[in-house]
Amino acid sequence: TRKQLIAGNWKMNGSLAANQQLLDEVLAGMQTAAPRCDVAVCVPAPYLAQVQAYQDRSRDASGRARLDLGAQDVSMHEAGAYTGEVSANMLRDFGVRYAIAGHSERRQYQGETDVHVALKVKRALAAGITPIVCVGETLREREEGMTEFIVKRQLSAVIHLNGHCISEIVVAYEPVWAIGTGKTATPAEAQAVHAVLRAQLKAATEHGERIPILYGGSMNAANAAELLAQPDIDGGLIGGASLKAPDFLKIIASAA
Ligand code: 13P
Repeated sequence: TRKQLIAGNWKMNGSLAANQQLLDEVLAGMQTAAPRCDVAVCVPAPYLAQVQAYQDRSRDASGRARLDLGAQDVSMHEAGAYTGEVSANMLRDFGVRYAIAGHSERRQYQGETDVHVALKVKRALAAGITPIVCVGETLREREEGMTEFIVKRQLSAVIHLNGHCISEIVVAYEPVWAIGTGKTATPAEAQAVHAVLRAQLKAATEHGERIPILYGGSMNAANAAELLAQPDIDGGLIGGASLKAPDFLKIIASAA
């Protein structure tokens, strides 16, 4: 069975002071009730050093950081004249364990294509970072019955470029219509898509059964338990609710 992962995606939110307060509250909660799942926060690049320093102060008795560090994006290029980009090796320098690749907001506003996302995944894997590969359909695509086609197309680009290395990825199913809208996929709707992704991963690698598939899109303290109880939902990628310590902690407590 797969250990669940609860990953916060702070998006473009936070400040040194606000992050400090949020981390203090989250860590305090995790010390009171030790999570059964893995926990990570994907933070804006300027705050990687802040959270890395914080991690060093918060290790448990075995020396393991209680919170893993994640980035929200990674460059598809290795190094060089790419102004504004942040490379996988730079992220690695800051102890980053996860990098989101292909979030729908980047696909939508930054014009990232399936091929760009597949290249980002390749760079992350080469640097020893676990990419969290986001896939998901828009409302229009769902209404047109295209959901399965879209998510399979998005994932297959990643599989084709990365071959057997995909056994090291994390997938996140994030229906675009559920992101930041308060509209969540029902547990059954989400599980149906997760099962499609699971089958695709199993067809691509003998390790397909152990690749975590997270759900993201208006997951909150009230709906997390039911979503996380689905057989192919292995955790959550949490936007808004990860900015409020009590909500994030409730989601963490709902995970197995
Ligand atoms: P919300 O939880 O705010 O809907 O965002 C989900 C998301 O996009 C996480 O990456």
